[in-house]
Amino acid sequence: MEHVTRIVIIGGGPGGYEAALVAAQLGAEVTVVDCDGLGGASVLTDCVPSKTLIATAEVMTTFDSSYEELGIIVADDTPPLEQAARVVGVDLGKVNRRVKRLALAQSHDITASVTRAGARVMRGRGRLEPAQGPDGSRKVIVRAADGSEETLVADAVLVSTGAHPREIPDAQPDGERILNWTQVYDLDELPEELIVVGSGVTGAEFAGAYQALGSKVTLVSSRDRVLPGEDPDAAAVLEDVFRRRGMNVMSRSRATAVKRVPGPASAQGPSSPKAGEEGRVGDRVEVTLADGRVITGSHCLMAVGSIPNTAGMGLEEAGVRMKESGHILTDKVSRTSAPGVYAAGDCTGVFALASVAAMQGRIAMYHFLGDAVTPLNLKTVSANVFTDPEIATVGYSQADVDAGKIDARVVKLPLLRNPRAKMQGIRDGFVKIFCRPGTGIVVGGVVVAPRASELIHPIALAVDNNLTVEQIAKAFTVYPSLSGSIAEVARQLHTRKSSEG
Ligand SMILES: Cc1cc2nc3c(=O)[nH]c(=O)nc-3n(C[C@H](O)[C@H](O)[C@H](O)COP(=O)(O)OP(=O)(O)OC[C@H]3O[C@@H](n4cnc5c(N)ncnc54)[C@H](O)[C@@H]3O)c2cc1C
Repeated sequence: MEHVTRIVIIGGGPGGYEAALVAAQLGAEVTVVDCDGLGGASVLTDCVPSKTLIATAEVMTTFDSSYEELGIIVADDTPPLEQAARVVGVDLGKVNRRVKRLALAQSHDITASVTRAGARVMRGRGRLEPAQGPDGSRKVIVRAADGSEETLVADAVLVSTGAHPREIPDAQPDGERILNWTQVYDLDELPEELIVVGSGVTGAEFAGAYQALGSKVTLVSSRDRVLPGEDPDAAAVLEDVFRRRGMNVMSRSRATAVKRVPGPASAQGPSSPKAGEEGRVGDRVEVTLADGRVITGSHCLMAVGSIPNTAGMGLEEAGVRMKESGHILTDKVSRTSAPGVYAAGDCTGVFALASVAAMQGRIAMYHFLGDAVTPLNLKTVSANVFTDPEIATVGYSQADVDAGKIDARVVKLPLLRNPRAKMQGIRDGFVKIFCRPGTGIVVGGVVVAPRASELIHPIALAVDNNLTVEQIAKAFTVYPSLSGSIAEVARQLHTRKSSEG
């Protein structure tokens, strides 16, 4: 009888469900185990909900920041908004209901397509058995919510269990006023004064979004500037935009504790908290900084990183080597140190992006099932920060060039000079391209613009295919268009290369 390869995937986020689709298409018998729902955190609490919320914020900022310049008149009968400077307002309850609806629908769509592809989907928590069978097989125990257990036998296991929000001991989220990013979608009303702790990508995206929605936002950053891991010119543009729009950006300010405190009204006549309500009372939040300063707001959003979901799964006992951070060590084809065990996505700490998780998962399956496989190449990953303006990057970065990791020429052109940008009232942003000095081969780029996530693609294609600045420069662009600036930067890099060579 023909042997059918058995694959068990623990975790059904992008790393897991994309791997399931590939493995099923390649003829394997696939089971995906997830404790929350297919799509994973990416679909249920992280990417999809945040980008859906940001879609509303984006429309509001675009309108608010350009309607006057573009000659739009707002009717006098506009309902009065709390913030006089705003001409549009938001019903956050409605926005959040849409966010949750969309996330659930997306999870259902993914479950349907994985099932259609022939894979089995199981609800439960997966755990690896330590020993390998004599035939090299692995066992995964799945524990359902009701406590019942089932053992699955697999020729290969993929661990793609993702990550969860990191917490600070003295700043425990309560889901009401002290929140992590998975809890904000339960809010029915817009936070009046939101303190966002953490100025990495997640903190910056939420700070920008809530400011656009109408909250008064304070962004607490422990570093010199926002987005410390991003292109410094891009981060400077964003910080400037944030401040101009009225955000209080506090740099070099580390938050050490967050607690709820009574507001001015309740402070006059405090009543004792009811049993079980200690720590959840008070309609204000107080954030204490490392230098002793205290700031207050109506809500606090903690965005201080993630912890991999790898504890208590029997991984180390099965021979899977881990980093001190709890992330699983993998090679470029997603193998772990344990034979027959692969890992993909946020639990590996390689690059916290849905697209990278999906690629790692697919690569694992191509490798195990003997299909053609290209090892993971992180130098071609494109990423985006969904702020306004957006910041999109691909390939080598300014930090790589400055540190001498690669010899590259750089040209940066502000969008201010772009005709389409002028027509649309866009002032903030730029296009930057890095190319090799001799050949002009494009090795990286940064776009800061509205919808930079779409504009980065031609640069990503160039990086992935070793195209030269000359090749980018000679392709037609639409007139007028923001992508005209990409061609213009390439032209400048090409001309300089020719005049120097
Ligand atoms: C707020 C926010 C916004 C983001 N926005 C973007 C974005 O716009 N674009 C982008 O590319 N990336 C974005 N990311 C990153 C992206 O969400 C992650 O990189 C992606 O979710 C990783 O996918 P994954 O498959 O590794 O895991 P996940 O999506 O985390 O899925 C893992 C799944 O495994 C389940 N699981 C865990 N343990 C077990 C177990 N023992 N048994 C069974 N199931 C288990 C979990 O419940 C979960 O359902 C964002 C992240 C955050 C926090």
